[in-house]
Amino acid sequence: MLRLSIKDIVLGKNIHIPSESDYRKSLLVGVCCIILAFICLVNGVLNVLVWDLNLTPYFMIGISGGTLGYMLNRFQKFELAKHTLLLISLFLIFIFMSNEGKYYGSQLYLFTVLVASISLFGYRRIGIWLSYAILAFICFSVSELTNFKVISVDAASESKEDKIYFINYLFTFVGLTVIIYFQVKLQYKSEEKLIKKDQQLKESEERFRMAVEGTNAGIWDWENINKDQQWWSPKLYELLGYKPEEIEANRVTFKNLLAQKEDYPKLVNDFKKHFRDKEPFSVEYKFKCKDGSYKWFHGSGQAKWSENKMPVRMVGSLVDITEKKIKEEEIQEKNSLLEKTNAELDRFVYSVSHDLRAPLNSIQGLINISDTTEDSQELKQLMSMMKNRVKKLYSFIDEIINFARNSRTEIIKEPVNLFAITSDAFDNAQFREQAVAIDFRILVDKELSINTDKGRISIVLNNLIDNAIKYHRHSQPGKFIALKAINDTNAVIIQIIDNGQGIPLQAQDKIFDMFYRASDTSKGSGLGLYIVKEMIERIGGEIFLQSEPGEGTTFSIKLPKV
Ligand code: ADP
Repeated sequence: MLRLSIKDIVLGKNIHIPSESDYRKSLLVGVCCIILAFICLVNGVLNVLVWDLNLTPYFMIGISGGTLGYMLNRFQKFELAKHTLLLISLFLIFIFMSNEGKYYGSQLYLFTVLVASISLFGYRRIGIWLSYAILAFICFSVSELTNFKVISVDAASESKEDKIYFINYLFTFVGLTVIIYFQVKLQYKSEEKLIKKDQQLKESEERFRMAVEGTNAGIWDWENINKDQQWWSPKLYELLGYKPEEIEANRVTFKNLLAQKEDYPKLVNDFKKHFRDKEPFSVEYKFKCKDGSYKWFHGSGQAKWSENKMPVRMVGSLVDITEKKIKEEEIQEKNSLLEKTNAELDRFVYSVSHDLRAPLNSIQGLINISDTTEDSQELKQLMSMMKNRVKKLYSFIDEIINFARNSRTEIIKEPVNLFAITSDAFDNAQFREQAVAIDFRILVDKELSINTDKGRISIVLNNLIDNAIKYHRHSQPGKFIALKAINDTNAVIIQIIDNGQGIPLQAQDKIFDMFYRASDTSKGSGLGLYIVKEMIERIGGEIFLQSEPGEGTTFSIKLPKV
Protein backbone atom coordinates (compact mmCIF):
# COMPACT_ATOMS: atom_id res chain seq x y z
CA MET A 1 0.00 0.00 0.00
CA LEU A 2 1.25 3.42 -0.90
CA ARG A 3 1.61 5.57 2.20
CA LEU A 4 2.85 9.11 1.91
CA SER A 5 3.81 11.27 4.87
CA ILE A 6 4.20 15.07 4.84
CA LYS A 7 7.93 14.50 4.73
CA ASP A 8 7.62 12.33 1.60
CA ILE A 9 5.47 14.94 -0.12
CA VAL A 10 7.62 17.91 0.85
CA LEU A 11 11.15 16.51 0.71
CA GLY A 12 10.88 13.24 -1.17
CA LYS A 13 11.26 9.67 0.09
CA ASN A 14 15.01 9.18 -0.11
CA ILE A 15 16.27 12.31 1.54
CA HIS A 16 17.92 12.12 4.94
CA ILE A 17 18.92 15.19 6.91
CA PRO A 18 20.92 14.27 10.02
CA SER A 19 20.21 17.41 12.04
CA GLU A 20 16.71 17.51 13.50
CA SER A 21 16.61 21.29 13.31
CA ASP A 22 17.69 21.42 9.64
CA TYR A 23 15.21 18.71 8.79
CA ARG A 24 12.33 20.58 10.44
CA LYS A 25 13.34 23.85 8.77
CA SER A 26 13.47 22.32 5.30
CA LEU A 27 10.09 20.74 5.99
CA LEU A 28 8.77 24.15 6.98
CA VAL A 29 10.17 25.80 3.83
CA GLY A 30 8.51 23.16 1.67
CA VAL A 31 5.18 23.50 3.47
CA CYS A 32 5.34 27.32 3.28
CA CYS A 33 6.07 27.12 -0.46
CA ILE A 34 3.02 24.89 -0.88
CA ILE A 35 0.94 27.31 1.20
CA LEU A 36 2.16 30.27 -0.89
CA ALA A 37 1.29 28.52 -4.12
CA PHE A 38 -2.02 27.40 -2.64
CA ILE A 39 -2.97 30.92 -1.41
CA CYS A 40 -2.14 32.34 -4.82
CA LEU A 41 -4.07 29.59 -6.55
CA VAL A 42 -7.18 30.11 -4.39
CA ASN A 43 -6.97 33.88 -4.81
CA GLY A 44 -6.31 33.53 -8.53
CA VAL A 45 -9.33 31.26 -9.01
CA LEU A 46 -11.49 33.60 -6.89
CA ASN A 47 -10.18 36.52 -8.90
CA VAL A 48 -11.11 34.96 -12.20
CA LEU A 49 -14.48 33.69 -11.07
CA VAL A 50 -15.66 36.31 -8.57
CA TRP A 51 -13.63 39.48 -8.20
CA ASP A 52 -12.65 39.95 -11.78
CA LEU A 53 -9.72 42.23 -11.00
CA ASN A 54 -6.65 42.70 -13.13
CA LEU A 55 -4.42 40.66 -10.75
CA THR A 56 -4.09 37.27 -12.41
CA PRO A 57 -0.39 37.68 -13.49
CA TYR A 58 0.60 38.37 -9.89
CA PHE A 59 -1.17 35.31 -8.63
CA MET A 60 0.66 33.42 -11.36
CA ILE A 61 3.98 34.79 -10.02
CA GLY A 62 2.96 33.56 -6.54
CA ILE A 63 2.08 30.09 -7.84
CA SER A 64 5.37 29.87 -9.82
CA GLY A 65 7.43 31.26 -6.90
CA GLY A 66 5.90 28.74 -4.48
CA THR A 67 6.52 25.91 -6.96
CA LEU A 68 10.12 27.05 -7.58
CA GLY A 69 10.83 27.25 -3.84
CA TYR A 70 9.28 23.80 -3.38
CA MET A 71 11.41 22.31 -6.18
CA LEU A 72 14.63 23.96 -4.93
CA ASN A 73 13.91 22.55 -1.50
CA ARG A 74 13.36 19.07 -2.88
CA PHE A 75 16.67 19.31 -4.71
CA GLN A 76 18.27 20.20 -1.37
CA LYS A 77 19.05 23.81 -2.28
CA PHE A 78 17.66 24.76 1.10
CA GLU A 79 19.14 28.26 1.36
CA LEU A 80 17.98 29.24 -2.11
CA ALA A 81 14.53 27.83 -1.40
CA LYS A 82 14.25 29.91 1.79
CA HIS A 83 15.22 33.16 0.04
CA THR A 84 12.96 32.41 -2.93
CA LEU A 85 10.02 31.85 -0.61
CA LEU A 86 10.59 34.97 1.47
CA LEU A 87 11.43 37.34 -1.42
CA ILE A 88 8.50 36.23 -3.62
CA SER A 89 6.17 36.48 -0.59
CA LEU A 90 7.44 39.99 0.25
CA PHE A 91 7.14 41.06 -3.40
CA LEU A 92 3.54 39.87 -3.66
CA ILE A 93 2.55 41.33 -0.29
CA PHE A 94 4.04 44.67 -1.34
CA ILE A 95 2.17 44.63 -4.66
CA PHE A 96 -1.17 43.94 -3.02
CA MET A 97 -0.52 46.12 0.00
CA SER A 98 0.43 49.17 -2.07
CA ASN A 99 -2.48 48.74 -4.41
CA GLU A 100 -5.28 47.76 -2.07
CA GLY A 101 -4.76 50.01 0.88
CA LYS A 102 -4.92 48.97 4.48
CA TYR A 103 -8.52 47.79 4.53
CA TYR A 104 -7.84 44.59 2.66
CA GLY A 105 -5.50 43.33 5.37
CA SER A 106 -2.66 42.23 3.02
CA GLN A 107 -0.14 43.78 5.41
CA LEU A 108 -0.98 41.00 7.87
CA TYR A 109 1.09 38.67 5.73
CA LEU A 110 4.18 40.65 6.75
CA PHE A 111 3.93 39.06 10.21
CA THR A 112 3.91 35.65 8.63
CA VAL A 113 7.03 36.52 6.59
CA LEU A 114 8.79 37.93 9.64
CA VAL A 115 8.02 34.91 11.83
CA ALA A 116 8.95 32.57 8.96
CA SER A 117 12.34 34.27 8.42
CA ILE A 118 13.18 34.07 12.14
CA SER A 119 12.15 30.41 12.24
CA LEU A 120 13.97 29.48 9.05
CA PHE A 121 17.28 31.22 9.69
CA GLY A 122 17.31 30.65 13.40
CA TYR A 123 18.59 32.53 16.36
CA ARG A 124 22.20 32.61 15.30
CA ARG A 125 21.73 34.08 11.81
CA ILE A 126 20.27 37.28 13.16
CA GLY A 127 21.73 39.39 10.32
CA ILE A 128 19.62 37.64 7.70
CA TRP A 129 16.27 37.59 9.45
CA LEU A 130 16.77 41.16 10.65
CA SER A 131 17.32 42.18 7.02
CA TYR A 132 14.01 40.55 6.12
CA ALA A 133 12.34 42.35 9.03
CA ILE A 134 13.73 45.69 7.79
CA LEU A 135 12.68 44.90 4.22
CA ALA A 136 9.18 44.04 5.44
CA PHE A 137 9.04 47.28 7.40
CA ILE A 138 10.19 49.31 4.36
CA CYS A 139 7.50 47.64 2.23
CA PHE A 140 4.92 48.43 4.88
CA SER A 141 6.07 52.07 5.25
CA VAL A 142 6.17 52.72 1.49
CA SER A 143 2.73 51.26 0.93
CA GLU A 144 1.15 52.98 3.93
CA LEU A 145 2.87 56.35 3.86
CA THR A 146 3.29 57.00 0.13
CA ASN A 147 1.10 56.75 -2.91
CA PHE A 148 3.62 54.53 -4.69
CA LYS A 149 1.92 51.69 -6.52
CA VAL A 150 3.33 48.94 -8.69
CA ILE A 151 -0.03 48.27 -10.28
CA SER A 152 -3.27 50.10 -10.27
CA VAL A 153 -6.43 48.08 -9.96
CA ASP A 154 -9.93 49.42 -9.58
CA ALA A 155 -11.14 49.56 -6.07
CA ALA A 156 -13.26 46.61 -5.17
CA SER A 157 -16.75 46.97 -3.91
CA GLU A 158 -17.31 46.97 -0.18
CA SER A 159 -18.72 43.44 -0.14
CA LYS A 160 -15.67 42.17 -2.06
CA GLU A 161 -13.40 44.10 0.29
CA ASP A 162 -14.86 42.23 3.25
CA LYS A 163 -14.31 38.86 1.62
CA ILE A 164 -10.72 39.65 0.61
CA TYR A 165 -10.08 40.96 4.12
CA PHE A 166 -11.46 37.72 5.56
CA ILE A 167 -9.37 35.55 3.23
CA ASN A 168 -6.16 37.48 4.06
CA TYR A 169 -6.87 37.11 7.77
CA LEU A 170 -7.57 33.42 7.37
CA PHE A 171 -4.39 32.70 5.43
CA THR A 172 -2.26 34.76 7.81
CA PHE A 173 -3.76 32.78 10.62
CA VAL A 174 -3.12 29.48 8.85
CA GLY A 175 0.46 30.51 7.87
CA LEU A 176 1.35 31.59 11.39
CA THR A 177 -0.21 28.48 12.88
CA VAL A 178 1.82 26.27 10.55
CA ILE A 179 5.09 28.07 11.36
CA ILE A 180 4.47 28.04 15.10
CA TYR A 181 3.40 24.40 14.93
CA PHE A 182 6.71 23.54 13.24
CA GLN A 183 8.65 25.54 15.78
CA VAL A 184 6.91 23.89 18.72
CA LYS A 185 7.37 20.47 17.16
CA LEU A 186 11.05 21.16 16.58
CA GLN A 187 11.44 22.15 20.19
CA TYR A 188 9.54 19.10 21.35
CA LYS A 189 11.60 16.76 19.17
CA SER A 190 14.86 18.36 20.26
CA GLU A 191 13.84 18.05 23.87
CA GLU A 192 12.85 14.43 23.32
CA LYS A 193 16.23 13.75 21.74
CA LEU A 194 18.01 15.49 24.58
CA ILE A 195 16.15 13.43 27.16
CA LYS A 196 17.00 10.27 25.22
CA LYS A 197 20.65 11.30 24.94
CA ASP A 198 20.72 12.11 28.63
CA GLN A 199 19.29 8.68 29.38
CA GLN A 200 21.84 7.02 27.08
CA LEU A 201 24.62 9.00 28.72
CA LYS A 202 23.48 7.88 32.16
CA GLU A 203 23.29 4.27 31.01
CA SER A 204 26.72 4.50 29.40
CA GLU A 205 28.14 6.07 32.57
CA GLU A 206 26.57 3.33 34.65
CA ARG A 207 27.95 0.67 32.29
CA PHE A 208 31.41 2.21 32.52
CA ARG A 209 31.20 2.50 36.32
CA MET A 210 30.12 -1.14 36.67
CA ALA A 211 32.81 -2.30 34.26
CA VAL A 212 35.47 -0.33 36.14
CA GLU A 213 34.28 -1.66 39.50
CA GLY A 214 33.93 -5.23 38.28
CA THR A 215 37.30 -5.57 36.62
CA ASN A 216 40.60 -6.42 38.19
CA ALA A 217 42.24 -3.70 36.21
CA GLY A 218 42.93 -0.21 37.48
CA ILE A 219 41.84 2.43 34.97
CA TRP A 220 43.64 5.72 34.38
CA ASP A 221 42.59 8.63 32.26
CA TRP A 222 45.12 11.26 31.24
CA GLU A 223 42.48 13.79 30.29
CA ASN A 224 44.81 16.43 28.91
CA ILE A 225 48.21 15.24 27.81
CA ASN A 226 49.64 18.75 28.09
CA LYS A 227 48.79 18.84 31.79
CA ASP A 228 50.15 16.56 34.49
CA GLN A 229 46.76 15.66 35.84
CA GLN A 230 44.98 12.33 35.60
CA TRP A 231 41.98 10.42 36.87
CA TRP A 232 42.54 6.99 38.47
CA SER A 233 39.83 4.49 39.25
CA PRO A 234 39.43 3.39 42.89
CA LYS A 235 40.75 -0.06 41.87
CA LEU A 236 44.03 1.46 40.70
CA TYR A 237 44.63 3.06 44.11
CA GLU A 238 43.65 -0.24 45.73
CA LEU A 239 46.13 -2.20 43.60
CA LEU A 240 48.90 0.13 44.72
CA GLY A 241 47.72 -0.05 48.33
CA TYR A 242 46.88 3.65 48.66
CA LYS A 243 43.74 5.64 49.45
CA PRO A 244 42.78 8.25 46.81
CA GLU A 245 43.50 11.11 49.22
CA GLU A 246 47.01 9.81 49.95
CA ILE A 247 48.55 10.29 46.50
CA GLU A 248 47.88 12.56 43.58
CA ALA A 249 46.92 10.97 40.31
CA ASN A 250 49.59 12.22 37.96
CA ARG A 251 52.72 11.36 36.03
CA VAL A 252 55.10 12.34 38.81
CA THR A 253 53.40 9.87 41.15
CA PHE A 254 53.72 7.13 38.53
CA LYS A 255 57.39 7.96 38.24
CA ASN A 256 57.89 7.75 42.00
CA LEU A 257 56.02 4.47 42.24
CA LEU A 258 58.26 2.71 39.72
CA ALA A 259 60.33 0.06 41.50
CA GLN A 260 63.40 0.87 39.41
CA LYS A 261 63.94 4.56 38.79
CA GLU A 262 65.92 3.82 35.64
CA ASP A 263 62.70 2.39 34.13
CA TYR A 264 61.20 5.89 33.88
CA PRO A 265 63.02 6.98 30.67
CA LYS A 266 61.96 3.63 29.18
CA LEU A 267 58.34 4.25 30.11
CA VAL A 268 58.47 7.80 28.66
CA ASN A 269 59.85 6.28 25.49
CA ASP A 270 57.03 3.74 25.33
CA PHE A 271 54.50 6.59 25.55
CA LYS A 272 56.31 8.61 22.87
CA LYS A 273 56.37 5.61 20.57
CA HIS A 274 52.64 5.13 20.94
CA PHE A 275 51.95 8.82 20.32
CA ARG A 276 54.19 8.84 17.26
CA ASP A 277 53.60 5.44 15.62
CA LYS A 278 50.06 4.81 16.92
CA GLU A 279 51.10 1.25 17.69
CA PRO A 280 49.27 -0.59 20.50
CA PHE A 281 50.54 0.53 23.91
CA SER A 282 51.44 -2.57 25.90
CA VAL A 283 54.09 -2.45 28.63
CA GLU A 284 55.17 -4.30 31.76
CA TYR A 285 56.67 -2.52 34.75
CA LYS A 286 57.36 -3.20 38.41
CA PHE A 287 55.84 -0.84 40.98
CA LYS A 288 56.42 -0.33 44.66
CA CYS A 289 53.22 -0.48 46.72
CA LYS A 290 52.52 1.46 49.89
CA ASP A 291 53.39 -1.50 52.15
CA GLY A 292 56.81 -1.76 50.50
CA SER A 293 55.94 -4.85 48.48
CA TYR A 294 56.57 -4.97 44.74
CA LYS A 295 54.02 -5.74 42.10
CA TRP A 296 54.33 -6.31 38.38
CA PHE A 297 51.72 -4.57 36.22
CA HIS A 298 50.76 -4.93 32.61
CA GLY A 299 49.78 -1.55 31.24
CA SER A 300 47.83 -0.94 28.07
CA GLY A 301 46.17 2.16 26.71
CA GLN A 302 44.93 4.17 23.80
CA ALA A 303 45.62 7.78 22.98
CA LYS A 304 43.38 10.20 21.09
CA TRP A 305 44.90 12.51 18.50
CA SER A 306 43.80 15.99 17.46
CA GLU A 307 43.19 16.93 13.82
CA ASN A 308 46.80 18.09 13.52
CA LYS A 309 47.89 14.63 14.74
CA MET A 310 48.93 15.74 18.23
CA PRO A 311 48.04 13.41 21.14
CA VAL A 312 45.44 15.09 23.33
CA ARG A 313 44.21 12.39 25.68
CA MET A 314 45.04 8.87 26.71
CA VAL A 315 43.06 6.27 28.62
CA GLY A 316 44.46 2.96 29.81
CA SER A 317 44.52 0.20 32.39
CA LEU A 318 46.90 -1.56 34.75
CA VAL A 319 46.55 -5.25 35.52
CA ASP A 320 48.43 -7.01 38.32
CA ILE A 321 50.56 -9.73 36.71
CA THR A 322 52.83 -10.45 39.68
CA GLU A 323 51.78 -14.10 39.91
CA LYS A 324 52.32 -14.61 36.20
CA LYS A 325 55.75 -12.97 36.45
CA ILE A 326 56.78 -15.18 39.38
CA LYS A 327 55.69 -18.23 37.41
CA GLU A 328 57.62 -16.98 34.38
CA GLU A 329 60.73 -16.52 36.51
CA GLU A 330 60.28 -20.01 37.93
CA ILE A 331 59.96 -21.43 34.42
CA GLN A 332 63.05 -19.52 33.37
CA GLU A 333 64.98 -20.87 36.35
CA LYS A 334 63.77 -24.38 35.57
CA ASN A 335 64.72 -23.94 31.94
CA SER A 336 68.27 -22.91 32.74
CA LEU A 337 68.50 -25.76 35.23
CA LEU A 338 67.25 -28.09 32.54
CA GLU A 339 69.81 -26.72 30.11
CA LYS A 340 72.55 -27.25 32.68
CA THR A 341 71.30 -30.77 33.40
CA ASN A 342 71.13 -31.59 29.70
CA ALA A 343 74.68 -30.39 29.15
CA GLU A 344 75.84 -32.39 32.17
CA LEU A 345 73.98 -35.42 30.92
CA ASP A 346 75.72 -35.19 27.56
CA ARG A 347 79.11 -35.04 29.25
CA PHE A 348 78.03 -37.73 31.66
CA VAL A 349 77.06 -40.17 28.92
CA TYR A 350 80.28 -39.46 27.06
CA SER A 351 82.52 -39.84 30.11
CA VAL A 352 80.67 -42.82 31.54
CA SER A 353 80.96 -44.74 28.29
CA HIS A 354 84.64 -43.79 28.17
CA ASP A 355 85.32 -44.70 31.79
CA LEU A 356 83.50 -48.00 31.48
CA ARG A 357 85.33 -48.90 28.30
CA ALA A 358 88.84 -48.14 29.62
CA PRO A 359 89.00 -50.87 32.31
CA LEU A 360 87.07 -53.25 30.04
CA ASN A 361 89.57 -52.72 27.21
CA SER A 362 92.34 -53.24 29.66
CA ILE A 363 90.76 -56.50 30.93
CA GLN A 364 90.29 -57.62 27.33
CA GLY A 365 94.01 -56.94 26.68
CA LEU A 366 95.03 -58.86 29.80
CA ILE A 367 92.86 -61.84 28.74
CA ASN A 368 94.49 -61.81 25.29
CA ILE A 369 97.97 -61.91 26.88
CA SER A 370 96.93 -64.70 29.26
CA ASP A 371 95.84 -66.77 26.22
CA THR A 372 99.39 -66.73 24.93
CA THR A 373 101.19 -67.72 28.11
CA GLU A 374 101.48 -70.95 30.10
CA ASP A 375 103.68 -69.44 32.78
CA SER A 376 101.75 -69.76 36.05
CA GLN A 377 103.62 -66.89 37.66
CA GLU A 378 102.75 -64.56 34.82
CA LEU A 379 99.13 -65.77 34.80
CA LYS A 380 98.83 -64.96 38.51
CA GLN A 381 100.11 -61.51 37.90
CA LEU A 382 97.70 -60.99 35.00
CA MET A 383 94.80 -62.21 37.17
CA SER A 384 95.70 -59.74 39.90
CA MET A 385 95.77 -56.92 37.35
CA MET A 386 92.36 -57.97 36.06
CA LYS A 387 91.03 -57.98 39.65
CA ASN A 388 92.18 -54.38 40.02
CA ARG A 389 90.37 -53.32 36.85
CA VAL A 390 87.20 -55.09 38.00
CA LYS A 391 87.45 -53.31 41.36
CA LYS A 392 87.77 -50.03 39.55
CA LEU A 393 84.69 -50.84 37.52
CA TYR A 394 82.76 -51.64 40.70
CA SER A 395 83.74 -48.41 42.38
CA PHE A 396 82.85 -46.44 39.27
CA ILE A 397 79.45 -48.10 39.09
CA ASP A 398 78.97 -47.30 42.81
CA GLU A 399 79.66 -43.66 42.08
CA ILE A 400 77.14 -43.61 39.27
CA ILE A 401 74.56 -45.20 41.54
CA ASN A 402 75.27 -42.54 44.19
CA PHE A 403 74.91 -39.84 41.58
CA ALA A 404 71.59 -41.23 40.36
CA ARG A 405 70.31 -41.71 43.90
CA ASN A 406 71.10 -38.16 44.86
CA SER A 407 68.90 -36.71 42.14
CA ARG A 408 66.11 -39.28 42.47
CA THR A 409 65.66 -40.04 46.16
CA GLU A 410 63.86 -37.76 48.61
CA ILE A 411 65.72 -36.12 51.47
CA ILE A 412 64.97 -37.83 54.74
CA LYS A 413 66.18 -35.82 57.71
CA GLU A 414 66.81 -37.47 61.08
CA PRO A 415 69.02 -36.79 64.11
CA VAL A 416 72.55 -37.85 63.21
CA ASN A 417 75.33 -38.18 65.81
CA LEU A 418 78.42 -36.78 64.16
CA PHE A 419 80.90 -38.71 66.30
CA ALA A 420 79.24 -42.03 65.47
CA ILE A 421 79.05 -41.36 61.73
CA THR A 422 82.69 -40.15 61.63
CA SER A 423 83.90 -43.23 63.51
CA ASP A 424 82.03 -45.47 61.05
CA ALA A 425 83.63 -43.70 58.08
CA PHE A 426 87.10 -44.02 59.62
CA ASP A 427 86.50 -47.67 60.46
CA ASN A 428 85.71 -48.37 56.81
CA ALA A 429 88.75 -46.45 55.61
CA GLN A 430 91.39 -47.71 57.97
CA PHE A 431 91.67 -51.12 56.35
CA ARG A 432 92.33 -49.82 52.86
CA GLU A 433 95.64 -50.75 51.35
CA GLN A 434 96.88 -47.17 51.14
CA ALA A 435 95.71 -46.29 54.65
CA VAL A 436 98.71 -47.94 56.24
CA ALA A 437 100.61 -45.59 58.51
CA ILE A 438 97.99 -42.84 58.33
CA ASP A 439 96.93 -41.46 61.69
CA PHE A 440 93.14 -41.04 61.80
CA ARG A 441 92.10 -38.37 64.28
CA ILE A 442 88.52 -37.61 65.38
CA LEU A 443 88.06 -34.15 66.86
CA VAL A 444 84.29 -34.26 67.33
CA ASP A 445 82.19 -33.77 70.45
CA LYS A 446 80.56 -37.12 71.23
CA GLU A 447 77.19 -35.47 71.96
CA LEU A 448 77.05 -33.36 68.81
CA SER A 449 74.01 -34.17 66.67
CA ILE A 450 72.39 -32.51 63.68
CA ASN A 451 69.17 -33.06 61.83
CA THR A 452 70.18 -34.19 58.37
CA ASP A 453 70.02 -36.89 55.71
CA LYS A 454 72.12 -39.72 57.13
CA GLY A 455 72.56 -41.66 53.89
CA ARG A 456 73.87 -38.64 51.97
CA ILE A 457 76.16 -37.34 54.72
CA SER A 458 77.85 -40.74 55.10
CA ILE A 459 78.45 -40.98 51.32
CA VAL A 460 79.95 -37.47 51.46
CA LEU A 461 82.26 -38.31 54.38
CA ASN A 462 83.34 -41.63 52.83
CA ASN A 463 84.16 -39.89 49.56
CA LEU A 464 86.22 -37.14 51.17
CA ILE A 465 88.10 -39.56 53.43
CA ASP A 466 88.67 -41.84 50.47
CA ASN A 467 90.18 -38.93 48.51
CA ALA A 468 92.33 -37.90 51.48
CA ILE A 469 93.74 -41.42 51.55
CA LYS A 470 94.15 -41.69 47.75
CA TYR A 471 95.94 -38.37 47.38
CA HIS A 472 98.18 -38.57 50.41
CA ARG A 473 101.97 -38.42 50.14
CA HIS A 474 102.46 -42.08 50.80
CA SER A 475 106.19 -42.09 51.23
CA GLN A 476 106.13 -39.33 53.80
CA PRO A 477 106.20 -39.93 57.58
CA GLY A 478 103.66 -38.31 59.99
CA LYS A 479 100.66 -38.74 57.69
CA PHE A 480 97.34 -37.90 59.25
CA ILE A 481 93.70 -37.38 58.34
CA ALA A 482 91.60 -35.50 60.85
CA LEU A 483 87.86 -35.02 61.12
CA LYS A 484 86.84 -31.97 63.08
CA ALA A 485 83.39 -30.55 63.89
CA ILE A 486 82.80 -26.92 64.87
CA ASN A 487 79.50 -26.16 66.56
CA ASP A 488 78.26 -22.78 65.34
CA THR A 489 74.97 -21.00 66.24
CA ASN A 490 72.78 -22.25 63.40
CA ALA A 491 75.19 -24.53 61.59
CA VAL A 492 77.79 -27.19 62.12
CA ILE A 493 81.05 -27.06 60.22
CA ILE A 494 82.68 -30.42 59.53
CA GLN A 495 86.27 -30.35 58.34
CA ILE A 496 88.22 -33.16 56.68
CA ILE A 497 91.87 -32.24 57.02
CA ASP A 498 94.87 -34.04 55.53
CA ASN A 499 98.55 -33.25 55.15
CA GLY A 500 98.71 -34.91 51.71
CA GLN A 501 99.67 -33.73 48.21
CA GLY A 502 97.40 -30.70 48.17
CA ILE A 503 95.65 -29.45 45.04
CA PRO A 504 97.36 -27.24 42.44
CA LEU A 505 96.10 -23.64 42.59
CA GLN A 506 94.87 -23.56 38.98
CA ALA A 507 92.79 -26.71 39.58
CA GLN A 508 91.04 -25.53 42.72
CA ASP A 509 88.22 -23.70 40.87
CA LYS A 510 87.29 -26.77 38.83
CA ILE A 511 87.67 -29.38 41.49
CA PHE A 512 83.90 -29.82 41.94
CA ASP A 513 83.18 -30.08 38.20
CA MET A 514 81.90 -33.32 36.78
CA PHE A 515 84.69 -35.71 35.67
CA TYR A 516 87.43 -33.27 36.59
CA ARG A 517 90.73 -34.79 37.62
CA ALA A 518 93.26 -32.42 39.12
CA SER A 519 96.42 -34.29 38.25
CA ASP A 520 97.88 -37.14 36.23
CA THR A 521 98.22 -39.17 39.39
CA SER A 522 94.46 -39.01 39.90
CA LYS A 523 93.13 -42.48 40.20
CA GLY A 524 89.36 -42.09 40.04
CA SER A 525 86.71 -41.04 37.54
CA GLY A 526 86.58 -37.39 38.56
CA LEU A 527 82.96 -37.82 39.65
CA GLY A 528 83.47 -38.04 43.43
CA LEU A 529 83.66 -34.33 44.39
CA TYR A 530 80.92 -33.41 41.93
CA ILE A 531 78.58 -35.86 43.71
CA VAL A 532 79.77 -34.57 47.11
CA LYS A 533 78.91 -30.97 46.23
CA GLU A 534 75.54 -31.84 44.70
CA MET A 535 74.58 -33.90 47.77
CA ILE A 536 75.60 -31.19 50.22
CA GLU A 537 73.62 -28.58 48.32
CA ARG A 538 70.58 -30.83 48.24
CA ILE A 539 70.57 -31.04 52.03
CA GLY A 540 70.96 -27.28 52.29
CA GLY A 541 74.68 -27.06 53.00
CA GLU A 542 77.81 -25.62 51.41
CA ILE A 543 81.32 -26.94 50.81
CA PHE A 544 84.58 -24.96 50.77
CA LEU A 545 88.08 -25.96 49.79
CA GLN A 546 91.37 -24.85 51.25
CA SER A 547 94.48 -26.46 49.85
CA GLU A 548 98.20 -25.83 49.69
CA PRO A 549 100.14 -27.93 47.15
CA GLY A 550 102.67 -30.05 49.00
CA GLU A 551 101.14 -29.16 52.38
CA GLY A 552 97.67 -30.61 52.55
CA THR A 553 93.98 -30.08 51.94
CA THR A 554 90.98 -29.13 54.07
CA PHE A 555 87.38 -29.54 52.93
CA SER A 556 84.89 -27.65 55.12
CA ILE A 557 81.21 -28.58 55.02
CA LYS A 558 78.72 -26.16 56.49
CA LEU A 559 75.43 -27.87 57.37
CA PRO A 560 72.29 -26.38 58.91
CA LYS A 561 71.45 -27.90 62.29
CA VAL A 562 67.82 -28.50 61.39
P1 ADP B 1 88.58 -38.72 41.48
O1 ADP B 1 87.66 -39.82 41.14
O2 ADP B 1 89.61 -38.46 40.46
O3 ADP B 1 89.16 -38.88 42.84
P2 ADP B 1 87.19 -36.50 42.59
O4 ADP B 1 86.11 -35.69 42.04
O5 ADP B 1 86.94 -37.22 43.86
O6 ADP B 1 87.67 -37.45 41.47
O7 ADP B 1 88.43 -35.55 42.81
C1 ADP B 1 88.82 -34.70 41.76
C2 ADP B 1 90.31 -34.44 41.82
O8 ADP B 1 90.63 -33.66 42.94
C3 ADP B 1 91.13 -35.70 41.99
O9 ADP B 1 91.43 -36.20 40.71
C4 ADP B 1 92.37 -35.20 42.71
O10 ADP B 1 93.35 -34.77 41.78
C5 ADP B 1 91.89 -34.01 43.48
N1 ADP B 1 91.69 -34.27 44.93
C6 ADP B 1 90.55 -34.58 45.53
N2 ADP B 1 90.72 -34.71 46.88
C7 ADP B 1 92.02 -34.45 47.12
C8 ADP B 1 92.82 -34.39 48.31
N3 ADP B 1 92.32 -34.64 49.53
N4 ADP B 1 94.12 -34.09 48.17
C9 ADP B 1 94.64 -33.85 46.94
N5 ADP B 1 93.96 -33.89 45.79
C10 ADP B 1 92.64 -34.17 45.87
